Amino acid sequence: MNVAEEYGSLVFNDRAMRTRLPRDVYKSVQNSVKTGTPLTLTDANVIANAMKDWAVELGATHFTHWFQPMTGITAEKHDSFISPTGDGGVIMNFSGKELIKGEPDASSFPSGGLRATFEARGYTAWDPTSYAFIKEHTLCIPTAFCSYTGEALDKKTPLLRSMDSLNREAMRVLRLFGDMDSRRVTSTVGSEQEYFLIDKALYLGRRDLVFCGRTLFGAKPPKGQELEDHYFGSIKPRVASFMQDLDESLWQLGVASKTRHNEVAPAQHELAPIFATTNIATDHNQLTMEVMRKIADKHGLACLLHEKPFAGVNGSGKHNNWSMATDTGDNLLEPGDTPRENAQFLLFLAAVIKAVDKYQGLLRVSVATAGNDHRLGANEAPPAIVSVFLGEELTAVIDSIDTGSPYAQKDKTTMEIGVDVLPRFPKDTTDRNRTSPFAFTGNKFEFRMVGSSASIADANTVLNTIVADVLAEFADALENAGDFTQALNKLIRKTFQTHKRIIFNGNNYTDEWVEEARRRGLFNFKHTADALPYFVHEENIALFERHHVLTPAEVHSRYEIMMEGYIKTLNIEALTMLEIARKSILPAASGYLRELIDGLAAKRMIEGLTVEPESSMIKKLAALNADLYQKILELEEKLGVESADTTEHGKYYSAVVFPAMQALRAVADDLEVWTAKDYWPFPTYGDLLFSV
Ligand code: ADP
Ligand code: MG
Repeated sequence: MNVAEEYGSLVFNDRAMRTRLPRDVYKSVQNSVKTGTPLTLTDANVIANAMKDWAVELGATHFTHWFQPMTGITAEKHDSFISPTGDGGVIMNFSGKELIKGEPDASSFPSGGLRATFEARGYTAWDPTSYAFIKEHTLCIPTAFCSYTGEALDKKTPLLRSMDSLNREAMRVLRLFGDMDSRRVTSTVGSEQEYFLIDKALYLGRRDLVFCGRTLFGAKPPKGQELEDHYFGSIKPRVASFMQDLDESLWQLGVASKTRHNEVAPAQHELAPIFATTNIATDHNQLTMEVMRKIADKHGLACLLHEKPFAGVNGSGKHNNWSMATDTGDNLLEPGDTPRENAQFLLFLAAVIKAVDKYQGLLRVSVATAGNDHRLGANEAPPAIVSVFLGEELTAVIDSIDTGSPYAQKDKTTMEIGVDVLPRFPKDTTDRNRTSPFAFTGNKFEFRMVGSSASIADANTVLNTIVADVLAEFADALENAGDFTQALNKLIRKTFQTHKRIIFNGNNYTDEWVEEARRRGLFNFKHTADALPYFVHEENIALFERHHVLTPAEVHSRYEIMMEGYIKTLNIEALTMLEIARKSILPAASGYLRELIDGLAAKRMIEGLTVEPESSMIKKLAALNADLYQKILELEEKLGVESADTTEHGKYYSAVVFPAMQALRAVADDLEVWTAKDYWPFPTYGDLLFSV
């Protein structure tokens, strides 16, 4: 493949628009993207027609509005371009109206009670900032999805609103620093995607993977990740061929896939793209996950995106690298070369630190799912406690600002904001603290709590909104200040002093940190069911309302959807466990038990033969089998309990159902250890993890 030629070949990008649209129409699209003003219907018709001609040339027969409902995955409903001509034939047709607006039936998507209050009908609206693309002979138009009365029913609408809010407040701050050139600030995101690849045939032999995306049973294999021989290891030919195919498909779709490597766990890998504007990065990540699954299938592989497909080895996350940039190309989290640039950098840094401290609970909520519960707080992943890693050098700078004490690395003088030039902070990987959930990595923050299967929209909506909120406060204070420099110094110093407790450069995996975090008063929501109710805290509702990101009704509906999603996930897992235990494990163990009993009976007919090991094994297996049966009954009984209150129901699943699932698993895994391989009804961890 000629990469430079093929890159973006399936995308109706700026290049395609420039060559295919009349100059004035092209200009008005550009203007619409920049300023957010809607296009006229005449222009939309011209664009739609050009888009259709382009798509048809590339083999497309259908179009769809491509959107991200609250299910967290993407939705599409295909319509063909055909339009009857009256003489028995058809022409390919696509109108501006069809491009700009779609009307899918909203009633089958989760609305969290919004449907009861508002109209059932929904509509999708074109997001012209994210390019249309072709997938499976279909022209896909990225859209936002709302109810007819304007309530957001998707993940993109609040994300776009949060970007607007961040833009507005960051621009106010930039103007105070005398920046009159920038016209827009956007947040930027590069999301590293972790995943597992296993053999497809073995995958199909596991009902738990098929139904739930994770294994619900499985004894520890003799070899896991303890040799640390997989991370950055040489890539096996079958995986390499998958990765090559994946990259080429993504490049055609304009997704700038850049890095690929093996991860820590056996069968685990990572892909990282070059960062992009947040809403585009979000669309691209959804597309990446979808393409990964499809390409894996073509290679006889299954791609597992679940946060914890296997107990006992690392789970998968998504490192959400986040920063803010001006349309003139300046990264606002890049320490600058002049005292003025540095003062500005420190103010934006202070804003992020304050935002993360003040809204730590909200960040935790933004990544709370049943799948991620297995990962946050487990050994490899960041804990459920949010803290910020700044690195030694930057922390020393902040300490110096805070206390007025000499800054050691620099001639033992104190750091004067607006007078001194900051040192360059090392960006090399050795300095990284891999245990931190929110780490400054030279010129961006890396939020590592996001789950591997999740849409990155929620986390970034929260990040944009909370930083916008603090920037608004800062702008208010500074716009009214008599002496700007003096007020700026005071503000930065005070912010660092007040919010220092969120900074932690040590090892986040230790028990000491959990204890220390408690002393500092930081939140520690261990489970989704504990975290989610905090979403509807009045402070958070006010925050989203203040920035026009979510109305109180939208916040409440999202809460219902998230908690119901949690309950449904656990319920499906529990039902799957019961089915596997009853239909596969119990019969398998009984069958093996019968063989042992038959063997023992035969032995007894021959004089002088020892009854061991059969006799002991029979006792052991019979006891485990009886225990398994008991645990099945217990889980069944616990699943039968209903509750009208979503919050209570969620907590019940977390506190009662989940432990019963764990108890069932423990017995089944013990049985696996003692049952002959020929009898075990499905592929084991060893089979799955070392299958490719
Ligand atoms: P690593 O963390 O593996 O050392 P990098 O730090 O280069 O690699 O980048 C990790 C991810 O962060 C990549 O997706 C990269 O594009 C992204 N990234 C780099 N700069 C920014 C930025 N200013 N804003 C958002 N993401 C960024
Ligand atoms: Mg990284």
